[in-house]
Formats: sequence, C-alpha cells, structure tokens
Amino acid sequence: MIKYCKICFLPETKPDLHFDVKGVCAACISYNSRAEIDWDKRKEAFIGLVQEISKKGKSAWHCVVPVSGGKDSTAQVLKMLELGFNPLCVTSTTCDLTPIGRLNLENIKNLGVDHVEFSPDPITRRKLNRIGLEQVGDISWPEHVGIFTIPVRAAVQFKVPLIIWGENSQNEYGGPASEARSNSLNRRWLEEFGGLLGLRVSDLRDVYQIEKRKLHLYTYPTDEELKDVGVTGLFLGYYFPWDGISNFLLAQAHGFRSLGSTIEGSIVDYENLDNYQTGIHDYFKFLKFGFGRATDLVSVHIRRGRLTREQGLTLKLHDGKYPKSYLGKPIREILEPLGLTVKEFDSICERFTNKALFRVEPDGSLMRDAENNLVKVNYDN
Ligand SMILES: [Zn+2]
Repeated sequence: MIKYCKICFLPETKPDLHFDVKGVCAACISYNSRAEIDWDKRKEAFIGLVQEISKKGKSAWHCVVPVSGGKDSTAQVLKMLELGFNPLCVTSTTCDLTPIGRLNLENIKNLGVDHVEFSPDPITRRKLNRIGLEQVGDISWPEHVGIFTIPVRAAVQFKVPLIIWGENSQNEYGGPASEARSNSLNRRWLEEFGGLLGLRVSDLRDVYQIEKRKLHLYTYPTDEELKDVGVTGLFLGYYFPWDGISNFLLAQAHGFRSLGSTIEGSIVDYENLDNYQTGIHDYFKFLKFGFGRATDLVSVHIRRGRLTREQGLTLKLHDGKYPKSYLGKPIREILEPLGLTVKEFDSICERFTNKALFRVEPDGSLMRDAENNLVKVNYDN
C-alpha cells in the first residue's frame, strides 16, 4: 500500500519527500508556513540584494534570468521588469522543441529584454537522451542538467554576478526542510536535487566515450571561475509567493500561448508545452514511483483550497497513461531521432517499472488495459 499525504496526494514513493508524525508531507508543511511570512519584507530584501550584488559586477545587466519560454519564466521576466531591473535572459534550448514552445520563447524577447540562446550540439544531445533513458530511466537527463549549468556558464561568460531562478522545487514539491527554506542555488543543490540521478558527467566521458569538449555545457563552472565573477543564485520563489496559475494568467496577459486543450498525462493546457519528450519523462516517473504530473498539479491545487481531495481523486487518474503521443506527436516519431523503436522503448519501460506498484498477470507479466496502460495496485488510501 502506498501511503499518501493526509492533505495532498504526494506519495511516500516520491524521492526525498518527508512526512511529519501526522502524515503531512513537507510540501504541504512548507506551503502552510507561507501565511507567517512577511512578504513585503521579503520583497524589500530582494530588491536590496539585487541592487547590492549587481553593483559588484561591471555588467549592463542586473542579473541572468534562465528562461524556457514557459509560463513561469515569462512571469519571472515580467517581475524583474516591474521592479525596474534589466535582466539578461538565457535559454538552454530544449531537446525536441515544439512550434508553440518557439512562439512562447519569441514572446519573452518581445517583453523588452536581451536574450541569448545556447543550443548544445543536437547530435550529442540525442545520444545523451538515449543514455539517460536507458541508464537511469530519464530521457530528459541532459535537459535537466543543462537548464542548471548553462545559465551559470552564461553568467560567468558575460560576467553577470547574479542569477534569478524561479521556484525552489524542493519547496513546492517537497524536500529536506533545510533545502525547502533555502533561498539560493549552488553546486551542491544541483548535485543533490538537479536531476543527476547518479549519472555523472564524468561517466559519460569514461563509459560512453563522449568527448569532454562536447560535455562542457553540461558541467558546472569551476569554483575559480565562479569566484572571479562572484556568481550568486537566488530563488524568486523565496521572496514572492509562487503560484503556477497566477504565473500563467500573468504570462497569458502578456502574449504567452497555451495549448487550448488538456495536455496528454496532465490536467491543464498551459505548461510543459515546449518539448515533445516530456510525455516520456513523466511516464517514467509514474513507472518508478506510481505518480505523475496530474498528481503534482492536483496536490498544488488542494494545498491552495482550489480542489477538494475528492475532486482530486478523479483528476489524478490522468496520471501515467501510456505516452502514445505527446502534444499530438506520435511516440514512434519522438523516438526515431534517438535511434529507438517503440518495441525497444517498451522493454526499457519494463526494466524501470516498480512491479510492487502495479498489478501483474498470473504469469508475472504486467497487467495492461485495452489502451496499453498499467493498472496500479491501489489508487488512494
Ligand atoms: Zn501534502
């Protein structure tokens, strides 16, 4: 039996998620503590810090803001502009960029900001997607490393001493208490929570013989390089109450486009729109831990009183559907550039499925419904 949080639906199978004695998860505890925060004071502190740190640099930009083009990064840029700062927006190009993702990225530039886009070599990237999928069950491994390393590399390159990250994922999605309260992101945070999953960049050199220079963008700058520029990273979510829907509405009012129909495996139409591989990424989370993006979103809404637990129960059934397409692109076409067939993909899925979470046939094989979906042992408690 999977144990779920008494307030939201985050399960105990989620890595690094802690529960208190009453069975409430760290994400709910940290959300509930927001009421005691003096947000005006935090805002003042933020403005002071940005002014102080950016003064140390000799750059025309106050800070680097990493942007994917999504609702959250659009809102981040708007916030920095509203406060009167001049950000350098930095994009780490995603793996299999969608047309709507490109439109939303162009939209950010038109908010009135300077922008650089780093596009790591796509041939190496596809190799890394496949290695990530086969070795640690995460097709998005290179993306999740690159979104943390590339903005830091850009800060060093352009001598901008400050990086403004969005939310601390350890806060909204649960993590060790000291990390959830943290206001800054550094090398240690990246190594622990940045999605490396035990696959180190050095392994790629030694085991898969990928040239060191092809992996440069996936590595964090050295301490010396960081010290030269004095790079500090801050989480905006520590200083302003972070909320996905509010970010979406604000972004939409400034040109951000949503899909217009619910995304496969999700319950909304306004996030994870930029990369065709995201459906596979989310599916593997379901295979390993028995929950997916729908559970994350339902939990965010329950915490804010926008959904009851009962409504959430039905909605979270969108989790973990076999990713036969994502944003309309068939899985065969998503896998093809990686040199993988659907059959090979299915056997990788099998390898990463936690069989204790799903029902099996008498012969020990995984039970599937007519749509090729796995059937969980239990859906709630
Ligand atoms: Zn919870």
